Amino acid sequence: MNNTTYDLIIIGSGPGGYVGAIRASQLGLKSCIIEKDKAGGVCLNVGCIPTKALVERAEIFNSLSELKSMGIRTDKSELNYAKVQKKAQTASTRLSKGISFLLEKNKVDYIQGEARKIEPSKVTLDDGTVITGTYILLATGSSPRAIPGFETDEDRVLSSTGMLAMTELPRTLTILGSGAIGIEFAYIMNSFGVKVTVVELLPRILPLEDREISEAIEASLSKQGIKFIKGTGAERMEKKDDAVDIVLSDEEKTVLSADKVLVAIGRKPNTDRIDLSLTDISINSRGFIETGDYYETGEKNIFAIGDILPSAQLAHVASMEAEIAVAHIAGKVTVERIDDTEVPSAVYCEPQAASFGMKEPEEENAEITVSRFPFTGNGKAKATGHSEGLVKIVSDKEGHILGAHIAGRNASEMIHELLLAKKEGITLDRLAEMIHVHPSLSESIMEASKEAYDGAIHL
Ligand code: FAD
Repeated sequence: MNNTTYDLIIIGSGPGGYVGAIRASQLGLKSCIIEKDKAGGVCLNVGCIPTKALVERAEIFNSLSELKSMGIRTDKSELNYAKVQKKAQTASTRLSKGISFLLEKNKVDYIQGEARKIEPSKVTLDDGTVITGTYILLATGSSPRAIPGFETDEDRVLSSTGMLAMTELPRTLTILGSGAIGIEFAYIMNSFGVKVTVVELLPRILPLEDREISEAIEASLSKQGIKFIKGTGAERMEKKDDAVDIVLSDEEKTVLSADKVLVAIGRKPNTDRIDLSLTDISINSRGFIETGDYYETGEKNIFAIGDILPSAQLAHVASMEAEIAVAHIAGKVTVERIDDTEVPSAVYCEPQAASFGMKEPEEENAEITVSRFPFTGNGKAKATGHSEGLVKIVSDKEGHILGAHIAGRNASEMIHELLLAKKEGITLDRLAEMIHVHPSLSESIMEASKEAYDGAIHL
């Protein structure tokens, strides 16, 4: 028995849990965080951070060809991937330590252990310890989704976690799934010289993105050497001595043979190992927890946020949900749950994809304007050799932004100008007259805005 009675018990220290804990402390709540693994959750340890560290190294490696054009000789065969992997791990370890430091600084009690049973005001850990508190925040995140018949062994058939632990490059890699995780690893591995084939059941890659953005990213990644097989599923997997075969469900029953396979078909919420039976929390058929306006569950003192909810599985979503829930618990007047049309997301390859809100409707819609500007018309993009992709804005007749989509260099940074405009009701005519630095990639946002009215200048 832990003798402290907390105002708030948080389960899970990912970007949902740790942000919630720090905010709780700032709002005067005595809280603890229970974590079964490392501080920082998936995002810091086996998600956002190590993948972006690898993407950065992949870009540096790619740019070696540029050095050659400047007369500088480099030998790509000297690549030591174990060192690249270690750098990514080091970034994660440092940030995880940083989270532990922040939690300590904010006087949050860190309890190492697995929460196994939740009751109103009570959490029981795997070693039998009971923690009591007025409120509970569930932030247990998600794990790679397995497909029967394609079980991961983290040796030759890998999840994203296994990919990040890999210290030697395979010669060939088959990736099942072309969502953000599949595409980021495809880009990383292809950059380091691995022959990559991506299999996608749906007719296009990055199916959650606007069609034109998916197509722009696919065109660019195909040019870089990644092979895409779309509209076909993986029927079965056969592990051989020297390869893993994936048999496709097409008429020919095509066999893809590779050294390794990455299964990247989504993530499942971590609700299956916690006993919630003594609560009124409702879980949908896919294991996600249902919540109300402030992320409260059916049990009035228990809240849930992050990847265990059916909302977008993104770190910044988990963090904002935590802030809203905790502020509500602390009795602060806050905004209600996140507006899904204002959630930005990004895919980190080169070029990047970044977007929020409404996509271009598949059918003609006289109420909607779609304006775009290609980076081929942008001076900075041309000068720096990054002229692939476009800025695309979906707006209503009054010029209010409904959605925006960018494929291109630094898209993940550029998207915020458009999101701020949407949030604040700034119409496209105002964005079109806002002076942008020259030369900058962001001028393409101004140009796409002009295109919705009198026309872009550099088209
Ligand atoms: P998590 O980060 O999953 O943390 C949950 C924590 O709870 C874990 O530490 C876990 O050990 C702990 N836990 C679980 N059960 C228990 C229990 N019973 N008792 C105690 N502790 C428990 N998102 C982005 O926004 N941008 C990106 O670029 C991005 N890249 C990604 C790349 C990869 C390869 C992956 C896998 C994910 C990526 N994501 C990205 C998604 C992002 O990591 C998640 O959306 C985010 O981590 C969710 O945060 P969370 O707090 O809900 O849960």
